Amino acid sequence: MSGQEFFQAGERVGVLTTQPLDRLLDYRAPEGGCFLGAYVEVPLGPRKVLGVVWGPGAGDFDSAKLRAVIRVLDVAPMRTEMRQFLGKAADYTLTPMPAMLRLATRAPGLSDPPSMRKILRRGDGVPDRMTDARSRVLGVLEDYGGLAFTPRELADMADVTPSVVKGLVKQGTLREEEAPRDTPYPHLDPELPSKQLTEDQAKAAQALAEGVHSGCYGTTLLKGVTGSGKTEVYLEAVAAALRAGRQALVLLPEIALTAEFLTRVEARFGAKPAEWHSGATMTERRRVWKMVGQGAAQLVIGARSSLFLPFRDLGLIIVDEEHDTSYKQEDGVLYSARDMAVLRAAMCSAQVVLASATPSLETWANAEAGKYKRLNLTSRFGASVLPDMRAVDMRSEDLLPSTWISPTLKQAMKLRMERGEQSLLFLNRRGFAPVTICRACGAQVACDHCDARMVEHRFMKRLMCHQCGETKPVPEACPSCEVEGKMAPVGPGIERLAEEAAALFPEARIAVLSSDLFGSARALKQRIEEIAAGEADIILGTQLVAKGHNFPLLTLVGVIDADLGLQGSDLRAAERTFQLMRQVAGRAGRAERPGEALMQTFQPEHPVIRAILSGDEENFWKAEAAERQAAGVPPYGRMAGIILSGPDLAAVFDLGNAMARNDGPLRRIGAQLFGPAPAPIARVRGRHRVRLLVKAPKGVPLQEALARWTAPLRLKGDLRLSIDIDPQSFF
Ligand SMILES: [Zn+2]
Ligand SMILES: [Zn+2]
Repeated sequence: MSGQEFFQAGERVGVLTTQPLDRLLDYRAPEGGCFLGAYVEVPLGPRKVLGVVWGPGAGDFDSAKLRAVIRVLDVAPMRTEMRQFLGKAADYTLTPMPAMLRLATRAPGLSDPPSMRKILRRGDGVPDRMTDARSRVLGVLEDYGGLAFTPRELADMADVTPSVVKGLVKQGTLREEEAPRDTPYPHLDPELPSKQLTEDQAKAAQALAEGVHSGCYGTTLLKGVTGSGKTEVYLEAVAAALRAGRQALVLLPEIALTAEFLTRVEARFGAKPAEWHSGATMTERRRVWKMVGQGAAQLVIGARSSLFLPFRDLGLIIVDEEHDTSYKQEDGVLYSARDMAVLRAAMCSAQVVLASATPSLETWANAEAGKYKRLNLTSRFGASVLPDMRAVDMRSEDLLPSTWISPTLKQAMKLRMERGEQSLLFLNRRGFAPVTICRACGAQVACDHCDARMVEHRFMKRLMCHQCGETKPVPEACPSCEVEGKMAPVGPGIERLAEEAAALFPEARIAVLSSDLFGSARALKQRIEEIAAGEADIILGTQLVAKGHNFPLLTLVGVIDADLGLQGSDLRAAERTFQLMRQVAGRAGRAERPGEALMQTFQPEHPVIRAILSGDEENFWKAEAAERQAAGVPPYGRMAGIILSGPDLAAVFDLGNAMARNDGPLRRIGAQLFGPAPAPIARVRGRHRVRLLVKAPKGVPLQEALARWTAPLRLKGDLRLSIDIDPQSFF
């Protein structure tokens, strides 16, 4: 990267744009010049596009035809550290730079001129008469000594009607001014008293704070069971970053969790932090983006994409529930937020805290190898303890056909009903029934566009494909043999389980928590709060409920099908099941009441089920690590998944075969190539999918080899290729 920091008007600059081009474009610096890293608007053909000044121009373009940068945007230039981060992230994920820049500029209206709004201050005019309402308005301004407010804010704070405020403006007692709409976030005060920490927690908090004070890069695994006070501990690391005048970022896996979390942050630091996620409004996103760059947002709570915000001085990144699968972006740019957090922190001398009760095997192995520090929180808050976990052996339970709640589980639920406590039934399957079958010919209803069965969703009275989202009504007659009235649901989904629970306990208030049943994150949040307040006796939930919701009255968790995750060829199946079951079980007994978790299983002797029940986590990880090491798979080897897709199956396979024949660059680094083979889901949205799998020893330059291997390819027509480094799932 060039050392030049400023370009005079007319000088050649190289601009990276968000357009899909494989190079920088040369422009002349605008009048007044521009800084390296400046966000600019440049002409491209007839259009204006967003870009960043990436360095001096290449000079390979006729200077007479060179066009000028239209204007420099009124935002802080991109920092060197951020340009390096985007470059490294692009190399790691094999993503073109324009796509990385799009990720880093996902705030609406960045190129709009700063938008203004009306604010009010104390003026010189004396009101003709002083009413109670008027004196309240002036009182508010006095209390906030010199701050200005919008008319609406002022009226709300003084608890008066807008007309009172208007009246004071007319008399000159209040003065109108224009101010930028994007305002700094309220100051967070790390000196406010923290929650009382146990000895264990205080030690961990101290260790994290020391990391922050070092001003160097470092990653720490903060491991603690649900309710062990992980959040309180890492908020003290946030406090340390704020004291050092640096910014902090907390990544959460689930938007629905942010409300509870924001309340805790406000209690600790006296104000709400900035929020960045898909549920935030456009205005709020632009404000976060701009204020983060000015250093006027000390703390951001966000989804994985907040890693690409232009922080001025990021000193700490917390990845909460670091094992969560939602941290892997599976669309567009394929990246793991956990890996990107570590990469970004290394570039800006920040600390990373990976918090989890059930860490990913990758993180566990890095801690074992001494690459990450490890802190363990053992004790739970107060008198609560981990629930008593037991298997319900389904081979010896007496169940009626098409029912899934065993007599043992039913008995335990009955006991909770009598005590006024809550039970939670966990089944990781959305909809009413996973399969609809014809009882005459045995045909199953499949999606027309995908190799997937349609799932019945009774609340919307339709069948749905969970791959492509296509829906259709449940057919009267079998699409295959045309016999009428024989279509029947097979197997349970969460909606069907709710029916069974309602039949068993007609007097119970039943709540179903499944992501597809809520129109908005807000509606879901609301429902969760109601349940926490005791407005349900039986809660039924999918994966959604495994994530950190606090239900104080919940003392029983019933896992309907503990075997569900163990099938399938995914290399992480055992790890996932282990994490999910432990998380779900951790929901019970969080307050003063001890909890119980019952796992319905047909294979109680399965090593994963036994590890879950025994609570011997270290042994589970050691055994799992040994298996992966023997197989040479992540984290002990490297993998990359290549998915080829297109409407014509033969053309997709031809491409795959051609790639397999020309695998020289892969062989030269000692990598093995598997495939081409049909992907586990061989057709999605009418496109055929073929996959190749690359397996390489650890420590070889895998990305470079992949880039050399795929560079000569010219994708004809509608063929597409995507590369997933360290794939998390094998779809
Ligand atoms: Zn049929
Ligand atoms: Zn489909």
